[in-house]
Amino acid sequence: MQTIHTIQKLRLAVQKARTEGKSIGFVPTMGAFHQGHLSLIQRCKKDHGLCVVSIFVNPTQFGPKEDYRNYPRDKRRDCRMAAAAGADVVFYPSVEEMYPFGCCSLVDVPDVTKTLCGKSRPHHFRGVATVVAKLFLIVNPDQAYFGQKDYQQTVVIQKMARDLNFPVKIRVIATVREPDGLAMSSRNIYLTPQERSEATVLFASLQAAKRSVGKGEKDPKAIKALIRSMIIRTSGRIDYIECADAQTLRPVPRLEGRCVIALAVFFGKARLIDNIILQI
Ligand code: AMP
Repeated sequence: MQTIHTIQKLRLAVQKARTEGKSIGFVPTMGAFHQGHLSLIQRCKKDHGLCVVSIFVNPTQFGPKEDYRNYPRDKRRDCRMAAAAGADVVFYPSVEEMYPFGCCSLVDVPDVTKTLCGKSRPHHFRGVATVVAKLFLIVNPDQAYFGQKDYQQTVVIQKMARDLNFPVKIRVIATVREPDGLAMSSRNIYLTPQERSEATVLFASLQAAKRSVGKGEKDPKAIKALIRSMIIRTSGRIDYIECADAQTLRPVPRLEGRCVIALAVFFGKARLIDNIILQI
């Protein structure tokens, strides 16, 4: 596996693979790998001749009070894990390579960035869309892989790719969970042992919501109350619980069609998110 730090060298590596007739798959990440990331890389390598993984802790998607400085970084471990999962190239640019002095253009996707996580993280998705657009233009992949754990992100990227005619197919891969249901996340390391055990309530409450919908409950207020009643028994501080249309991400007055039930909850320093998609 090659580790590449510059845009120019990355472009050459991709061009070479193309002349060899290979298709290009791409997995954008911020590193601190766990099995969730590895499932994306494994799937990408299964589908493509060249699997490119980017590792870049993107400063523009963190808010001023968020964990950009302390975000876990371990280049050697990540490169070793990416290689074992099948990556052919790790693109590991510096902040200066991605945002040279004076770089200031932004990609803003309206509407779908304003709900759910967008309410408490107002500039987050602008940072995500901007860096992913840049990475798409640098890597020029046939397909790019994203995790359903960050469901809103997949909707934003799909909208951006469609609106701006990026010739890339977006693939969404199922959330990988710990045996007790907690969605794997690089931020789980911030949890104390007690918070870690309490955080299982996120998936448990989503499962309880799913069962309730299955029994006929279609009122989002009742579903949100059910989830809230379970979370408030723990030390978790609720940021939001929402029932939204899976495509527009707008809150729904009634659960029908394709919906997402999504939540964000703070446990100590860690803000954890999870979601389920329901086809009703
Ligand atoms: P991050 O490094 O957190 O930016 O995540 C990089 C990619 O991995 C994103 O597309 C995430 O949605 C995906 N990802 C993160 N956690 C999981 C998980 N538990 N299961 C599946 N994909 C995940």
